[in-house]
Amino acid sequence: MSLDVAALRAQFPILAKTVDGKPLVYLDNAATTQKPQAVIDAIVDFYTNTNANVHRGAHHLSDEATRRYENARTSVAGFINANAREEVIWTSGTTEAINIVANGLGQLLREGDQVMVTELEHHANLVTWQQACRRSGATLNIVPVFDNGELDIDAFDRLLTPSTKMVAFPHVSNALGTVNPIKLLTEKAKAVGAWVLVDGAQGIAHGGVDVQDIGCDFYAFSGHKLFGPTGIGVLWGRKSVLEDWPVWQTGGEMIKDVSYHEATWGELPNRLEAGTPNIAGAIGLGAAVDWFKNLDMAALHNHEQALLSYATEQALAFEGMRLIGTAPNKVGVLSFLLDGAHPGDVGFILDRQGVAIRTGDNCAQPLMKRFGIPGTARASFSIYNTLEEVDSLFAALKKAKMMLA
Ligand code: PMP
Repeated sequence: MSLDVAALRAQFPILAKTVDGKPLVYLDNAATTQKPQAVIDAIVDFYTNTNANVHRGAHHLSDEATRRYENARTSVAGFINANAREEVIWTSGTTEAINIVANGLGQLLREGDQVMVTELEHHANLVTWQQACRRSGATLNIVPVFDNGELDIDAFDRLLTPSTKMVAFPHVSNALGTVNPIKLLTEKAKAVGAWVLVDGAQGIAHGGVDVQDIGCDFYAFSGHKLFGPTGIGVLWGRKSVLEDWPVWQTGGEMIKDVSYHEATWGELPNRLEAGTPNIAGAIGLGAAVDWFKNLDMAALHNHEQALLSYATEQALAFEGMRLIGTAPNKVGVLSFLLDGAHPGDVGFILDRQGVAIRTGDNCAQPLMKRFGIPGTARASFSIYNTLEEVDSLFAALKKAKMMLA
């Protein structure tokens, strides 16, 4: 089935913008996605009609705000097939979600334990575990990738031992687009009794995610990469695991009973949500999920793959272009270098043509070092991009090449 991309685009007001008189070609979707009108409306409506704090007030507005806020949690829980809605913990994003696990559950790590991550990590899922290991004396093991950016599963097997307590890996690499076999990796890690955390920041917007089917303990993602607002994200955790670890952040709402010298903790999800939450953000993310889950996932997948194939074909035919990340299973991410040109300069020239891409280390400095490069230029596609926009990217790249090479 094909996707009505024009109808989809019409729901995103920002896509009608021009930059320096040129139509905006937004190819920085791995950094953040644009927001459909349904999400913008939900946020405006919350502040216009129902703004109040949640779970506190004995008044109509607070009840209505709480209802919308908790409905959003139910929507997210359904979308990822959580076993219970209390398993959905609101966070400020993927980064905070991973930090909650590494600073909470991470307190149970001991010297002699092992933690495993991959060479593909975004800094959020690397530095956080690196520091948890420093604090606890656990050892951090890094699973290598092949030159095409695919994870070396044999090395994963070799590094996995009965001392491995936590295995954390990305669903999809932000820098290269590699899709990892997360179900297989989870199965292997579970076989040695390790906890499994999937960094879903780049995986969540490419079709359905079923956390029960994956079998992991934690799945973390950000609302802003799923057509929702910034400043809101989700830590999904298996209830039995979430209930059973030391809390990290303390304050209002997460407690049960407090005296001047003692406190006991409340039930999930509040136990892990100290302080006034990002209410409008949660409602916006709920609206994004409701909007997204009504789309045809198979058609979205086919469209994204068509964009990726078309772009890859052009990249391979483009003299002087080096692709970084050519794994067989990828989402629509094209990381590349132009011979003799700094990625930052390429990005600058593309911007003059209205084409928005990311340049730099992609928050994955060790991975860039692994490939012997300072960074890349990265075009990342979403469901509303078109083949014509891929043409615009390559037309702009030809100009960049002429000016820089
Ligand atoms: N992990 C990956 C794979 C990412 O791509 C990102 C965002 N670029 C993050 C984690 C961090 O997400 P956030 O900045 O929204 O917390």
